[in-house]
Amino acid sequence: MSYVATVGVETHVELNTASKMFCGCSARFGDPPNTNVCPVCLGLPGALPVPNRAAIERIIAIGLALGCRLNGRSIFHRKNYFYADMPKNYQISQYDIPVFQEGAYTLETEKGPHTVRINRVHMEEDTGKSLHVGHGGRIHGAEYTLLDFNRAGVPLVEIVTEPDLRSPEEARQYATELRDVLLTLGVSDVKLEEGSLRFDANVSVRAEEEEPYGVKVEVKNMNSFRSLEQAIGYEIERQVRLLTADQAVVQETRHWDEEEGLTHGMRSKEESSDYRYFPEPDLVPIAIDEEWISRARAALPELPFQRRERLRSLGLDSGQANTLIRSDPVLVGWLTEAVERGADPGVVANWLTGEVTGYLRREELEAADTHLDGARLARLVGLVSEGKLSATAAKEVLALVAQEGGDPLDVAREHDLIQLSEGDELVEAVDRVISDHPEEFARLEGGEERLVGFFVGLVMRATAGRADPKAVTALLRERIS
Ligand code: ZN
Ligand code: MN
Repeated sequence: MSYVATVGVETHVELNTASKMFCGCSARFGDPPNTNVCPVCLGLPGALPVPNRAAIERIIAIGLALGCRLNGRSIFHRKNYFYADMPKNYQISQYDIPVFQEGAYTLETEKGPHTVRINRVHMEEDTGKSLHVGHGGRIHGAEYTLLDFNRAGVPLVEIVTEPDLRSPEEARQYATELRDVLLTLGVSDVKLEEGSLRFDANVSVRAEEEEPYGVKVEVKNMNSFRSLEQAIGYEIERQVRLLTADQAVVQETRHWDEEEGLTHGMRSKEESSDYRYFPEPDLVPIAIDEEWISRARAALPELPFQRRERLRSLGLDSGQANTLIRSDPVLVGWLTEAVERGADPGVVANWLTGEVTGYLRREELEAADTHLDGARLARLVGLVSEGKLSATAAKEVLALVAQEGGDPLDVAREHDLIQLSEGDELVEAVDRVISDHPEEFARLEGGEERLVGFFVGLVMRATAGRADPKAVTALLRERIS
């Protein structure tokens, strides 16, 4: 029997606001423990929360980017549970009326486009951090636990998909692309290693021919894209193994163990009723009006999937488009300009992802700090295709233009880099090389073909690399006959 896996991903995004969600404390990462705290985020009696407008603006950007429906009036709820890292003993979160619902994100997969429905995007606050001391930093067997409340109350957005992902690879792709969207929006540091971006997965398996979903297991503690993929892969296998042996899958939360490469059972999964959700009496509803939304919509940057579409419409293949999506937007601007001037999109894209990116990295420069632009790139690429510049010379011209600006053809002339594909200088060079090596030339005439390379090499050296090898070969052939 074959099985079908169903995966949903829950993402927690720490927003990069200056202050926390409901108080004025700094939300900065890495400060000395318990230095960014106040009565509100420590849950002291009588302290009242006030929502952070900058956080609301960021969640609006996320919801719009994911094509969600806005709830014009959404409310906060208290999610009640007891844990040492949460001083109020409840988390301010959202329940039945989140800010956004019903979005969608389309992945480009090998099997074609695949749409992942977004169930909800809601606003909440982070907890503090526990540091378990002794016994390998695990809670079990630790000698004691230190608590840092700097993170308590940092604004958090939770993004929940429907169970629409079909494999570990697809889940990883979704997570990676979501990270890129958040990065482009500029709403979070999106650092998995610092915990500003965290993924949990809901995994279930069912027999192909059955309709209903299988029993759902939540997997936590993946701190890289790779471990997200591995943990889901392991969990699917584990469930298939159970079902194949006619055993039941238990609904629970499991912990991914990076070193052992498997998941451990943690606790039976809570139902939402366990959290005794009730409306937060200290906060009014968030009312987002049309004007605020249209302002936010107008301020959205070009998102990675939109840029991919645009690059494709320029004529790039997916591979090139995907590479360019991740690079500096300035490069994409140059590409657009160069193509408008008639340059071949694929050729320009190769220059941008290859030589241009390499040059910037070597010189430790940002694209915008150079004299390059789309027009100059188009000209440079044109000179190569016309045979006026060799590939090697073009790289030199690129660096010179990047440093000093100017027209690539003028720069190439000035530095004597124009390729010799005709003219007296080339003919003289070929004839001189032949008369300097009469013996080898006789062997070439006698049919020793590999000597073509020998003569081309000599002409290249004699012209300091400027000769066009094709033109040299053609001249040699003329001399032979
Ligand atoms: Zn505070
Ligand atoms: Mn949450």
